[in-house]
Amino acid sequence: MSPAGKDRHARALTRSRMRMVARDLAPRGNLDEAVLEAMATVPREAFVPPEYAHRAYEDGPLPIGEGQTISQPYVVAVMASAAELTPVDQVLEVGTGSGYGAAILAQLARQVYTIERHANLATEARQRFEDLGYRNIDVTIGDGTLGLPSRGPFDAIVVTAGAPSEPPPALLEQLAPGGRLIIPTGDTRYHQELTRIRRSPDGTEFKREPLGGTRFVPLIGEAGWTNDHPLANTGPPRDTE
Ligand code: SAH
Repeated sequence: MSPAGKDRHARALTRSRMRMVARDLAPRGNLDEAVLEAMATVPREAFVPPEYAHRAYEDGPLPIGEGQTISQPYVVAVMASAAELTPVDQVLEVGTGSGYGAAILAQLARQVYTIERHANLATEARQRFEDLGYRNIDVTIGDGTLGLPSRGPFDAIVVTAGAPSEPPPALLEQLAPGGRLIIPTGDTRYHQELTRIRRSPDGTEFKREPLGGTRFVPLIGEAGWTNDHPLANTGPPRDTE
């Protein structure tokens, strides 16, 4: 592409991103202003495989390899809003995937730690963060159901894969007093209730609030679903978030 062509292309993508915010996100009325700004800033096209770049601003999930998906923009925005982030917060994300969700969180918080069980996805995401100039995102390869005890406690923890009804105990332990755990939980692998669990300021109580029905790929790990089924990593994920 010529330099002028590249320029036009970049402007067209920016327009699509603005349109997505104005059409699919803002009218729903339940999203933080700072989150809408972050969604208008992060180039989602850089987080999807090149063959899907033209669909980057549709409000739906897209495949990213390893049987996983980049979450639907609206769901990313709901989770980021529910996390009630401030610029001093330290956040843990479980399920890096493409890295898009972590990039949104990184616009809103001081530091984001993100953990992914698929080494390939983690490595690709790390490269994207470097290319885009993010300096406040740290990617770990591993089982996020155990949290990241060496970096905790966290002001917010955002889990982007579907957990069993009982959230992983390590994630509750690693929440700072007043911290928020945003996690899809359910008693089957493919349907969950998005849940916010808030730790009381004195650290002794955990309050659960339901935030709506969702469909994420399963959270696979020691305190998640087991990986013993041949479809554990692929699921019926065409319409997963
Ligand atoms: N936030 C991502 C969503 C990716 S889908 C994005 O914006 O693209 C959820 C991701 O969670 C998948 O990549 C999956 O491999 C990962 N995952 C599932 N179980 C996990 C676990 N126990 N620890 C870390 N990552 C996990």
